[in-house]
Amino acid sequence: MSQKPIYLDCHATTPLDPQVLAAMLPYFTEHFGNASSINHVYGWTAEAAVKQARETIAAAINSSPEEIIFTSGATEANNLAIKGVAEAYFAKGRHIVTVMTEHRAVLDPCHYLEKLGFEVTILPVGADGLIDLELLEKSLRPDTILLSIMAANNEIGVIQPLGAIGAICRQYQVLFHTDAAQAIGKIPLDVEEMNIDLMSLTAHKVHGPKGIGALYVRRRNPRVRLAAQIQGGGQEKGLRSGTIFTPQIVGFAKAVELGIKAIEEDNSHLNQLKARLWEIISQLDRIYLNGHPSQRLAGNLNISIEG
Ligand SMILES: *Cc1c(COP(=O)(O)O)cnc(C)c1O
Repeated sequence: MSQKPIYLDCHATTPLDPQVLAAMLPYFTEHFGNASSINHVYGWTAEAAVKQARETIAAAINSSPEEIIFTSGATEANNLAIKGVAEAYFAKGRHIVTVMTEHRAVLDPCHYLEKLGFEVTILPVGADGLIDLELLEKSLRPDTILLSIMAANNEIGVIQPLGAIGAICRQYQVLFHTDAAQAIGKIPLDVEEMNIDLMSLTAHKVHGPKGIGALYVRRRNPRVRLAAQIQGGGQEKGLRSGTIFTPQIVGFAKAVELGIKAIEEDNSHLNQLKARLWEIISQLDRIYLNGHPSQRLAGNLNISIEG
């Protein structure tokens, strides 16, 4: 009997949960309607599924459903957030702050904006992978329009102090965007408590399908203005045109729902497994743990071996 190779690359993507697949399948077949077809039952069925999914995802981050804009994933959500804010607020200022350890889906849109005349400050992180809040506060200026810092890192798994960052942004009236691709369904996220104005999400890091995600866009206190980056049929409040991909959205919501339901149980199980694994491998010589020892995702162990 052949054995499958052991998969230890869940920051890159996760296997689809069979319950997620089961939830999606009817929307490929009998419920194939366009969620924007408002004059027949095929459209209504799809629309109802999308509405329910939007509510599930909104509840998962303590937002309201109208604040969820579905996108093709976190890359697109990051592009919409960063370029969308830049285009909408350039009269107020052209300075953006981000961090060295961001995903390329944040850094590359920032570099693109530099070419258009925006100024980008890229903050370093400490040896533990965490940002220095004092340094962050000092980097904010009257012309700073956006701060973009990820929730949990996709390599070393460290979790940034979102609540403290959000409080600083609110004090200086700078919009706060967080790429939470690795965080949704794994750590608690609360856009109100953490003062988050924009948050990028994706399904496929939490046992959902690839090719679907969302951008949370705050609608009050303050109301965030965004310039659409994809024009067309005006779906998603005009912020993301294109026919709504109902099966992916249904799967995304199911994955988030399952992830959140099991968050504590999964994290305590993973932390136990991780502690056992680290106990064994740390006995080897010249082996180091990268990132903060405890302020990190339960499923993440990132090590260096000297030489
Ligand atoms: C995976 C990942 C992305 C890209 O998400 P897609 O949905 O694949 O576009 C962006 N940011 C982080 C932190 C990620 O881990």
